[in-house]
Amino acid sequence: MDFIEALRAGVEHRRPTVEWLVPLLEAEGEQECLLLHAADRVRAQMVGEAVHLRGLIEFSNYCRRNCLYCGLRRHNDSLERYRLTREEIVETAIRAWRIGYKTVVLQSGEDFYFSTDLMADIICEIKSRTGLAITLSLGERDKSAYSAWRKAGADRYLLRIETTEEKIFREIHPDDDLYERKRGLFVLKGLGYQLGSGVMVGLPGQDALSLAKDVIWMHELGAEMVGIGPFIPHPQTPLRNEKGGTLEQALRLVAVLRLVFPYAHIPATTAMGVLDPLGREKALQAGANVMMPNITPTRVRPLYELYPNKICLDENADRCFDCATSRIISLNRTIGADCGHVIRQAAS
Ligand code: SF4
Repeated sequence: MDFIEALRAGVEHRRPTVEWLVPLLEAEGEQECLLLHAADRVRAQMVGEAVHLRGLIEFSNYCRRNCLYCGLRRHNDSLERYRLTREEIVETAIRAWRIGYKTVVLQSGEDFYFSTDLMADIICEIKSRTGLAITLSLGERDKSAYSAWRKAGADRYLLRIETTEEKIFREIHPDDDLYERKRGLFVLKGLGYQLGSGVMVGLPGQDALSLAKDVIWMHELGAEMVGIGPFIPHPQTPLRNEKGGTLEQALRLVAVLRLVFPYAHIPATTAMGVLDPLGREKALQAGANVMMPNITPTRVRPLYELYPNKICLDENADRCFDCATSRIISLNRTIGADCGHVIRQAAS
């Protein structure tokens, strides 16, 4: 299929196939511009001009796993570890609510210190005192934990698949299993969570065909929020000498996702801002409609180092909100006035 046929298939929201996804994911030059513009138009038509702000609280950098690309991996002995207390997490969420956030994202490594009961207690407290929408990003847990947290008031769960290519998944996740990750996503869906997944772009061995297969799998899953992280090699990990992903790869994938998931929430991720100071703005103009300003207390923020050269380390929560707002307004977009739940009835 040539590029123009592929773009037409995408804009018409046809069922994704590798035949039309691959030419779009490989677009360069003028074709790449056409793709990004088409995605921006679809974004405007389907989810409008509002950008939803999610306040991100990174409350623990302990992790039981050893993902080869991640600075939080268990074997990274050079990293100083921290955990916020229950009270600090709740207070940070309350502060976010007072600033004007409608959603908080509670994120950590896979840290079982935060037991099912402790997390349920934190979720319940935040919900009852603020009414905020609560997104969890805590990695893989069992069904009883997911279920307890849903009952406690969690609305959404983010669990990125990273790659559906069995060989790559196994190589970069020495202590994890692709089948289990997939199964967990279906369990979360069955429990009624608004479901987020996503992939890492630029991984060793990955190509346009494997990304196309990832997109098709997430479509079959029925993902409602889809996040893209460019792979940025971390010096304290085994992948330190790999090449890493580019902003261009990430933007093409954001644009393709907007065509495939016209109603989904797609973030302009902070990792894109690491590769280019205007990376998040570029993503918002290529199909994205969400930003996740970091509201973690600044004293621990540098320690949540999934990848190096993290940005927004010194700004307090108020300044991050103001900075995100001004970036959004500079694009003639608006700040989401509600909590930006997923749009289920219209989802393809
Ligand atoms: S990617 Fe997640 S699960 Fe893997 S080491 Fe990092 S924090 Fe832990």
